[in-house]
Amino acid sequence: MRRLPIYFLVDISESMVGAPIEEVQQGMRTIVQNLRVDPYALETVFVSIIAFAGKATILSPLTELYKFYPPQFPIGGGTSLGKGLEALMDDIDKSVQKTTKDLKGDWKPIIFLFTDGNPTDNYSSAFKRWNSKYRGHCNLVAISIGDNVNVLTLAQLTDDILLLKETDAESFSQFFKWITASIKSTSMSVGETNIDEVKLAPTTGINLEKVEVNSPTDYDYAEVDDNFVVLHGRCANTNNDYLVKYAKHYPTERRSGFRHDDGQYRLIGAYPVDKKSYKSLSSGKPPKINTMLLRGVPTCPCCGNQFGVVVCECGGISCAGADGYATCPWCGAGGELGEMGPDGMNITRGLG
Ligand SMILES: [Zn+2]
Ligand SMILES: [Zn+2]
Repeated sequence: MRRLPIYFLVDISESMVGAPIEEVQQGMRTIVQNLRVDPYALETVFVSIIAFAGKATILSPLTELYKFYPPQFPIGGGTSLGKGLEALMDDIDKSVQKTTKDLKGDWKPIIFLFTDGNPTDNYSSAFKRWNSKYRGHCNLVAISIGDNVNVLTLAQLTDDILLLKETDAESFSQFFKWITASIKSTSMSVGETNIDEVKLAPTTGINLEKVEVNSPTDYDYAEVDDNFVVLHGRCANTNNDYLVKYAKHYPTERRSGFRHDDGQYRLIGAYPVDKKSYKSLSSGKPPKINTMLLRGVPTCPCCGNQFGVVVCECGGISCAGADGYATCPWCGAGGELGEMGPDGMNITRGLG
């Protein structure tokens, strides 16, 4: 039996923490539930999930649909698209059956790449490998979640680039229905016509826009994603870790086409994170951010303490209660909370 391998290559960088990663997680469940009742898909579709932050990890190896169970998505620091792509290509070599003289191999794999930011690694050798050996034998559909992604980067990988303009729950739900419909129509077309080009479903009525790039150019990667600031905190009461996410604030109306950057970031929320997987999926040297640029302080998502961003002299970020006394879970020092000076202070941010 010829299989139709479907890969999801998912950005799990810090900027995905909170609602976006929860929507992706829910979306994967919906896709699998809907495909399982489709006779064509059930017969041919195999699914794999590869996630990348500072490092890449295979969350689910290529598995037949009826045995597939969507995994939990961890979060890591950094957006190493190059490493994600390498992991994908290595797995294609290992798991996808090639056509030989005596054997019809698997259908062309379809890869759905979801990313919400720009690569923080040097991806050029991975891109070269992709374009010389894999691009012609795969269908890669790249989806920018929100409009912070430089599409010129994605255009070096594929002609199929889509932009999910809004990232509210309804837009995500429509988007995952569109993915499901696209997989269904491709598996049907494969079964009936023996042609394994991806058949994307119509995007009418969905917040999803096809992006046309005329001249893909090289884009210099930046080591930090400047659209978000993510702080790595540790709860003083539970010793669990959490991320505090801020997004760049553009005061000018977007529809004027010009986004004025005043350098400030607004609080989005604070989210518990698994300490072990966060550490193992992060790479790169985190830069600093001045606290004066951050607007808003969350409560601690682990214990509910009133102050979720308290900075110790050791540089560690933790929580503290309303009584203003804190013991730093990073270095063990205790003390009264002090007032911050008028110039703020430089604290460590994640790579995003
Ligand atoms: Zn806490
Ligand atoms: Zn400390």
